[in-house]
Amino acid sequence: MRSLDQFAQAKLARLEAGSLRRQLVETTRGEGAWVERNGQRLLSFSCNDYLNLSRHPAVIAAALEATRRHGVGAGASRLITGNHPLLAELEARLARLKGSAACCLFGSGYLANAGLIPALMGEGDLILLDELAHSCLWAGARLSGARVEVFRHNDVAQAASLLAARRPPRGRAMIATDGVFSMDGDLAPLDALADVAEAHEAWLLSDDAHGIGVLNDGHGTAHPRVPLQMGTLSKAVGGYGGYVCASAPVVELLRNRARSFVYSTGLPPGVAAAAIAALDVIERDPAYAALPLAKARAFTVAAGLPLAQSPIVPLVLGEAAAALAASRALEAEGFLVTAIRPPTVPPGTARLRFAFSALQPDEEIARLAALVRRLPAQP
Ligand SMILES: *Cc1c(COP(=O)(O)O)cnc(C)c1O
Repeated sequence: MRSLDQFAQAKLARLEAGSLRRQLVETTRGEGAWVERNGQRLLSFSCNDYLNLSRHPAVIAAALEATRRHGVGAGASRLITGNHPLLAELEARLARLKGSAACCLFGSGYLANAGLIPALMGEGDLILLDELAHSCLWAGARLSGARVEVFRHNDVAQAASLLAARRPPRGRAMIATDGVFSMDGDLAPLDALADVAEAHEAWLLSDDAHGIGVLNDGHGTAHPRVPLQMGTLSKAVGGYGGYVCASAPVVELLRNRARSFVYSTGLPPGVAAAAIAALDVIERDPAYAALPLAKARAFTVAAGLPLAQSPIVPLVLGEAAAALAASRALEAEGFLVTAIRPPTVPPGTARLRFAFSALQPDEEIARLAALVRRLPAQP
């Protein structure tokens, strides 16, 4: 189809002109946080495998053992024949870690939010989103058909006034936010949001993708007053998959009505076994789980940046071209720090995003901090 290809080419040309075209670059991971790319060995600050559990011998062994015994795939949706016992075991472990009564696994974190939000919200309801909430919270909110309103980043007072002013009569209301913001590394004020949510009978949803495993002894931003706690197994937990921790009736409803659960195949047994083994490591060794945040803090002190609140540290540079140039300069020095550009972040806030992980050598972090101090000043 000529018109189809022309459409795609024109779109790509516009992205290229704005320094916004993205490319897949083959990258192989080696020992620790080292990677190889274009024949060059680089220390990666762009990987969410914060604890290197994807390469942990016990995690790999668990995945292999479960795969040998049970096969590679689940074979069907869990409601048909894909409900392997390892999945219930993993759900129980996650519920315990998050202090919730129950848990429902999904194929990924993205699928969790795409299923969860429309299962609870619909036309005539109101969803409030933090302006920096992750793309999959937006996707789930839009899919639900509910009215979506946006509050300024971490602005609890604005969330409260929007709830009071915009809630449709008899409509349900939800507040959705990242627990740890994925491109900024700061934390949501969950206590204050819970106050507002409770005062307005709104349901609070927190996305803890970047908290589980690395904050608060591995519990992440787990919070007893947040009734909907979702997250992913593909970052600090080292594997793949998403989850929602909630009360028993909510989880039972998700199993009946979340379309990305009902109509999508269950997680492979090897993936579930790997996640269980990874949670074992996290729970057994809190000192290890604390390393990424400690390294991020040391970096921010050395680089003269605001103290890190999570293993994610942003350095906002403004235009996409500036972020790309800084990323290339660091790559020439042996560091992989991917530039983050719109639409992942708002226009004018392109940045370097440093993700700290347990096995990055401290002397390399110090060298990186010295380089970062010499980058052009922030706008
Ligand atoms: C990565 C991420 C997700 C998506 O998780 P996947 O399991 O990779 O699909 C969801 N929310 C946030 C905040 C994330 O950073």
